[in-house]
Amino acid sequence: MQKNIICVACPMGCGVTVDIADNGEILSVKGNTCKRGDAYARTEITNPVRSLATTVKVNGGIYNVVPCKSAGALPKDKIMECMEAINKAEVNAPVKLGDVLVENILGTGINIVATNHCPTK
Ligand code: SF4
Repeated sequence: MQKNIICVACPMGCGVTVDIADNGEILSVKGNTCKRGDAYARTEITNPVRSLATTVKVNGGIYNVVPCKSAGALPKDKIMECMEAINKAEVNAPVKLGDVLVENILGTGINIVATNHCPTK
């Protein structure tokens, strides 16, 4: 089986073709311009991950929400569940840049951290 993917490890966006055996083994990776593309393609086939950027509700702050992101890459198949958990989360002001807003989200070992401040009202 062949799978065509776009490498997003840099803005060049190379088209990469991965040959996969019936047992799931990766036979070859072609079309990548550099080694990062090879690594990206292999991860995308065997264990796809995504970073997440969204907002968390803040109580008592000058803003109602604070922007946040995952401190590392999350399994792609858990992104929607993570979004649901983050949508339910609430934190109290003040929030500082880098504060952990959701610890170890869904047991992934990845924290959701603030990417901005939110002082109290
Ligand atoms: S293969 Fe290399 S050059 Fe091409 S998009 Fe990926 S990282 Fe960029």
